[in-house]
Amino acid sequence: MLDCLFCKIRDGEIPGDIVYENDYVLAFNDINPVAPIHILIIPKEHISTLNDLEENHTQTMGELFLAAKSIASKEGLSESGYRTVFNCNEDAQQTVFHIHLHLIGGRKMTWPPG
Ligand code: 5GP
Ligand code: ZN
Repeated sequence: MLDCLFCKIRDGEIPGDIVYENDYVLAFNDINPVAPIHILIIPKEHISTLNDLEENHTQTMGELFLAAKSIASKEGLSESGYRTVFNCNEDAQQTVFHIHLHLIGGRKMTWPPG
């Protein structure tokens, strides 16, 4: 999609610090990490928000979580733990409107989130 930051990273128009890629997803380091490890996992297909999910996105959504599992393992987080988060729209503070799974770890976190 035109003028989408994460589509531009996917297309190589904007540099991304890419850590993982397969046919369905791309993962790169967050530019403003909130923890020692903060990786964004995006579907290669542009989907603006979780509200835009459709039946045919089932495999892609599964691939996002399989990528999270694989990256967490590679980063040594599987045992210590990590958090995966999707923010949807204003109240959750979604700022980039191409869905992305935050993979956050490497420190003790609190619950509930703010
Ligand atoms: P949201 O608030 O939409 O859930 O998360 C957007 C995330 O994208 C934020 O954590 C923010 O730091 C990250 N971000 C914003 N611009 C860029 C960028 O140009 N490159 C990368 N790698 N991350 C970005
Ligand atoms: Zn996009």
